Amino acid sequence: MRVHLINPSHLAFGVAVITPRWLYVLAAATPAEYGDPVIVDETLVQLDPESIAPGDIVGIGIHSGNALRGYEVGRQARERGARVIYGGIHATLYPNEALDLGGAHAVVKGDGDRIWPQVIKAACEDRAEPIYEGGRVEGGSLLKARWDLLPPDRYMWASVQTVRGCPKHCSFCSVWRTDGQKPRVRSSDAVIEEIVELRRRGFRFIALADDNFYPVAMNDLRLADRRADKTTLNNLKAIREERFELMERLSKLPRDMVFFTQITMEAAEDPLFLDAMRKANIKGALVGVESVTPAGLKDIYKDFNFAGEELVTRLQAFRKHGVHVLGSFIFGLPSDRPETFEATAALAQRADVTFAQFVMLTPFPGTVDFERWEEIMATDETRIAGIPITRHWLIPQAQRPKVYSPHPVMSPDEIRDRTQAVWDQFYSLANIWKRSSCTPSLRSRLAFVLISKLYRQMYANTGIATDSARVSRAEKWARIIAPPTRRLFAAPPMPELQVPN
Ligand code: SF4
Repeated sequence: MRVHLINPSHLAFGVAVITPRWLYVLAAATPAEYGDPVIVDETLVQLDPESIAPGDIVGIGIHSGNALRGYEVGRQARERGARVIYGGIHATLYPNEALDLGGAHAVVKGDGDRIWPQVIKAACEDRAEPIYEGGRVEGGSLLKARWDLLPPDRYMWASVQTVRGCPKHCSFCSVWRTDGQKPRVRSSDAVIEEIVELRRRGFRFIALADDNFYPVAMNDLRLADRRADKTTLNNLKAIREERFELMERLSKLPRDMVFFTQITMEAAEDPLFLDAMRKANIKGALVGVESVTPAGLKDIYKDFNFAGEELVTRLQAFRKHGVHVLGSFIFGLPSDRPETFEATAALAQRADVTFAQFVMLTPFPGTVDFERWEEIMATDETRIAGIPITRHWLIPQAQRPKVYSPHPVMSPDEIRDRTQAVWDQFYSLANIWKRSSCTPSLRSRLAFVLISKLYRQMYANTGIATDSARVSRAEKWARIIAPPTRRLFAAPPMPELQVPN
């Protein structure tokens, strides 16, 4: 009997940008008595169903984007006599779907770190319950990943999580509902040990794949102080101190290491934190800018962000402290108007963001936006391949429509065309070349151009593609430039590297 862990995807590129961390964490949660799990990341290579034998355990992790492929894999595995177990965000939100459509014997909701051994055992003994509650595992119990199982030369970035959960409540995001609003911080020991292991193996680029690397803002401290809420204040201070401790330890790692994370814009008013990030070699961060107008921020419950000139100053603050920003902008908010697109493009240029992504407001399952949209769509009788639009992830890939939140004055086509134009403008060769001057040499400028173009092409496929010709062009491009780009990220292994004190 073998345990298989499968990350489903209908597209395989041979190489991928970031390691799907969950595969290697669940491998660590698999008891030794079952042997090393067989890991299949279908973004690299498709599953060979013949590799699954009767009695095997097959764990499949799904989000809404790959759920349909996941169900196909699950049914194949079950036909071959395996016991099939689902997990991941989508399975947490819609456990019955995996049972009805994906051939599941069991579904795990929430974190799998602790409950996985129990589920495997029950499945092996043919007494698995249909649904298990994995709950939210505390930071100290989140597992280290089994990086010894990583295939060589396949990924550009490794991923390590330092904190799970986000205290905010943005309407388009499901993280605060699935991972919770209480930050669950991992110990710096556990994080550093993983990173050292990855550097020994030749990874110098590491994504700190956190929901929000800055879980305590200065404003949170001020509010707790004003309320004279000592317990909360002390908890918040403790989390903040742990962040600084982690960054101090990151700063003792080899200087060629590069970290990237996700953070809220509030960090811009915390120069001590930004300086600690720079010292820790956290060279870049995805910052959810979302909207450049106060009305847009209100639309999505993100009033803690800034708009207009203040926003430019905040974004520039990251750059001044040596942290490059990947700005994430959303179009199609109810208050957006045609002039919002041009204003956003201009602001992104002025604010010195190094990379940017421009996405259309999409009602993702598990979000407040999705619930509102589902209500609006309750009377809509449209069916594609017999599936209602509100279950669009079940529509076959080739027929699946892009689903966007309805807008009061613009059609989806207009929003898409205008969004596309902003991408084209931001990623024009001239603009990329101008931005590449932030790098130290001609070689790194060329690498910057290559990476910018790859990012643009990969996004054209996943986020904003308008027609299948464009999608297949983007895929072809990504396939060609991904392998040489991966080599730019590789570094000589450092097998002797020790964990710094
Ligand atoms: S979008 Fe970011 S800040 Fe908002 S809830 Fe999600 S993780 Fe938190």
